[in-house]
Amino acid sequence: MEFKGPGGPLPYIPDDLSVVQFILDSHHPTRPVVDRPWPWMIEDATGRQIGGDEIRARTFGLANALSANWNIREDDVVCIFSTNHVDYPVAIWALHRLGAIVTGANPSYSEDELEYQLSITKSKAIIVHSEIYPVALAAARKVGIAPSRILLIDSSSATSTCLTINDFVSDGLSRPPHFIERRLAPGEGKKKLAFLCLSSGTTGKPKATLIPHYSLIANVIQLALCNKNNVKDTPPEKKRYLVGEVGISVLPLYHIYGLVLNLHFLLFTGVTLVMIPKFNFVEMLKSIQRYRIHHLSIVPPMVVLLCKHPATRDFDLSGVKSVVSAAAPLSAEMTLHLARVLPNATIGQGYGLTETCTAVAFPEIGPRIATPGCAGILMPGITARIVKADGSLAGFNEPGQLVVTGPSMAVGYLDNEQATKETFVKGWVYTGDETVINEKYEVSVVDRIKELIKVKGFQVAPAELEGHLLEHPDVGDVCVVPIPDDYSGELPYAFAVLSADAQQRVKSKPDDALKIKAALCKHVSDHKIAFKHLAGVEFIDAIPKNPSGKLLRRVLRDQARQLLAQG
Ligand code: AMP
Repeated sequence: MEFKGPGGPLPYIPDDLSVVQFILDSHHPTRPVVDRPWPWMIEDATGRQIGGDEIRARTFGLANALSANWNIREDDVVCIFSTNHVDYPVAIWALHRLGAIVTGANPSYSEDELEYQLSITKSKAIIVHSEIYPVALAAARKVGIAPSRILLIDSSSATSTCLTINDFVSDGLSRPPHFIERRLAPGEGKKKLAFLCLSSGTTGKPKATLIPHYSLIANVIQLALCNKNNVKDTPPEKKRYLVGEVGISVLPLYHIYGLVLNLHFLLFTGVTLVMIPKFNFVEMLKSIQRYRIHHLSIVPPMVVLLCKHPATRDFDLSGVKSVVSAAAPLSAEMTLHLARVLPNATIGQGYGLTETCTAVAFPEIGPRIATPGCAGILMPGITARIVKADGSLAGFNEPGQLVVTGPSMAVGYLDNEQATKETFVKGWVYTGDETVINEKYEVSVVDRIKELIKVKGFQVAPAELEGHLLEHPDVGDVCVVPIPDDYSGELPYAFAVLSADAQQRVKSKPDDALKIKAALCKHVSDHKIAFKHLAGVEFIDAIPKNPSGKLLRRVLRDQARQLLAQG
């Protein structure tokens, strides 16, 4: 059967607006009407408030300077390599005014990881936080981006040779308009790309997911419908988000969850966002208390900390009225535990993928605690199928692969026809997740069919770590699988076959086995961001494969779980 998210039909979704025009310049019936200016963002460290007029002016100034000084134009890709910052959205929207495309990179990336993203996205320039400028400079050199095309998002004296966004904004505001705003023809928003977001999808290395303007706009409107903000005469107590309430932007903005739900959707609803540069639990608690934050969009490890970290008790968190957790499963136990820690808050999970431009399921408004363990209710405008192992379609409560369609779907992967064909089929996205849907249209994720490992909600592509480990001379073959972890959700674990030479060494000197395991872990930690580091290595004689040579990951995943259970 086909499952349709309740609450449809959808209102008009503009297909002739860019994201910036939708957020900064236009009105939509699902948007709360605001009769006076309010702060859109607050800089966490300084308490500085930034309103819509200032954001609009900065966006124009930056776009003007990017056009005049760097000649940024239609479909140029610019990478934002930064922690969260009040000028992060300004940079996104300035680039959209020019018709350019944004790719956000994880600010903790190593030089190699950033180089990979710059090269697959063919980025032409970088906007970077000064603290990680050296990484950006080194990666830029490798892909042929000139140092003069790197701009600092913050103003820091540490890299005085580099211009900053403030420099560009002043320059852009002081010169006559140098660009013509990119306007979209009716229907063009469905194709015109706004973002390239990295995701490994169901298999292989990270790929650049193609996200058009329309996808993000659609998802924001769908989320607004879920929250009943649009429904005229809905009493305030029936709305989750109200204008002038305060939310926290602690999720990284390069990831689709932070980008769509936390940043664009909450700003659309009129919620003021406190911009938190980097997650630090105690600092986050301080900010929640200081700004009396109402809304938390977080990931399961943050829920674990809220429940278990002793510092939680030292702060007044009574202002929190809603918590949404997504990006990885949140157990029923943790949901109930959090409800005790935050007695004034509604608590629920959302579910989505980079490939669906975020949410396809979201918690219902009304009950204080959404059904514990369930990943949300299918959103308005989403149609789902559950494909069973034999290819037939499941009914209520029957497990199978979730396949979804709706207006927010991404449109493929950049330069990767094969992966695009496998995941995006005639407007349907194959999620690679095994789920069930019940009679209330609640989605529960039962298992993950795809290779992806999720550490603290971050993606780890086994193929990336396998490729890297195979470069080590002691490795003949390797397979990386997830093992469960109470805090991180999952961690990567490697099964390796030793090379012939390493086998000889271990035979004559068995103690070398431990040294090689440590060396392999170091080989990963020297080159990869912390959440990709291996939780362990096990040697085996051969990687199990089917007759056509495909890795039998499940066999090793189960073996890893057994090893773990045995201690
Ligand atoms: P990403 O593209 O990084 O957002 O990762 C998407 C994947 O995260 C999904 O395909 C799921 O495997 C997982 N995921 C997201 N939200 C949830 C959730 N609420 N429960 C379980 N898994 C989730």
